[in-house]
Amino acid sequence: MKIMSINTGSSSLKFSLFDMEDEKVIISGNFERIGIDDSLYTIKYNGEIISEKIEILNHTDAVKIMFDKLISLSVIKSLDEIDGVGHRIVHGGSKYAESVYITDEVIDDIYNFRTFAPLHNPSHVMGIKAFLEAAPNMAMVAVFDTAFHQNMDKVNYLYPVPYSWYTEYNVRKYGAHGTSHRYIAEYVKGMLHKDNFKLISCHIGNGGSICAIENMQCVDTSMGFTPLAGIMMGTRSGDIDSSIIPYVMEKEGKNASEIIEDLNKKSGLFGLSEYSSDMRDIVKKCDEGDEKAILAKNKFVRRVVDYIAQYHVLLNGADVIVFTAGIGENNIPIRREICEKLSCLGVSIDLDKNNICGDVVKISNHDSKIDVFVIPTNEELMIARDTLKIVKNRLDANNVF
Ligand code: ADP
Repeated sequence: MKIMSINTGSSSLKFSLFDMEDEKVIISGNFERIGIDDSLYTIKYNGEIISEKIEILNHTDAVKIMFDKLISLSVIKSLDEIDGVGHRIVHGGSKYAESVYITDEVIDDIYNFRTFAPLHNPSHVMGIKAFLEAAPNMAMVAVFDTAFHQNMDKVNYLYPVPYSWYTEYNVRKYGAHGTSHRYIAEYVKGMLHKDNFKLISCHIGNGGSICAIENMQCVDTSMGFTPLAGIMMGTRSGDIDSSIIPYVMEKEGKNASEIIEDLNKKSGLFGLSEYSSDMRDIVKKCDEGDEKAILAKNKFVRRVVDYIAQYHVLLNGADVIVFTAGIGENNIPIRREICEKLSCLGVSIDLDKNNICGDVVKISNHDSKIDVFVIPTNEELMIARDTLKIVKNRLDANNVF
């Protein structure tokens, strides 16, 4: 069966079409600058890259162009060959603890949860509506980034604030990157041939979160009410004392939204280094002896180590630590520094193995008390798997098979 995985942003649409027999990507691509000047698409197919600057008025236009390309490149003969489309949805509120078939009610809910993800959820609705317009009969599934974190215990998802903030305004930890953490948990399950392990999944990219997982369930995660919480990130502060906000508001004559914008876009690696949000640049500057870059890198490492240590205790001893996403998969010195700081927990890594990037690799030594792996994440595949499962179940229920 062929399943498409979709990630829609306000001016972008990324797609991957999977052959679910072998879970390989047949074709993938990215539509950029939708609805603005200089729009373009880039498609990867058969080892080639096809790129074209073309007017893309809106997301419906992008979907139509994509379908036309699939047919003109003979990837499919007709749209009927696409068995389902899975949409990545950033926020599913407290309602969605798993992926669901998309109905009018689901679309309304995604839109209504925009208060929690104002930059993402409205764009996801645009993406879904674009598919509805271009291919009204196509089966579609919503895969929520928050869903995996819905099983957390109240003691982990509630903040120590007035309880009515939770009951009245839904103030709680929702988490993020759930689809990635779930993919990692599934991968580890496949490797270990069991599901009763205790895992700390470290998704560290430009955005990042750490997740404590036991028996394939999320126990706790570092991201919170919004993706501003938790570890330090490329441009995001992560956890800070909330009293800083009114203090700096007064000092700089800014309102709360402006300070939140500073915490989202001008903090983290970028804020402390006053140079770059990209860890590659930071590591390079550190090698040149730049003090602020060294400070930014050390703070970043410290925050990740803090969360791993916290979750090791929460899990009563983790069995496995996994590094994934841009930094976790590729940044050798950062992985090394994090692991060195975990030596008191009995973590020891093989420096040669840690030099390997781009593949699944066990970087811990035989005598390490916790196994440490690097596993490239694959959120698109997780979305496609969920979509396949739900589409198949519906077909079975309708006795089509
Ligand atoms: P996002 O959260 O936007 O998906 P990514 O997962 O792509 O972010 O991660 C971006 C981060 O990963 C950057 O800090 C970048 O330095 C780092 N990164 C990506 N590729 C490499 C690489 N080949 N070597 C070292 N660091 C990398």
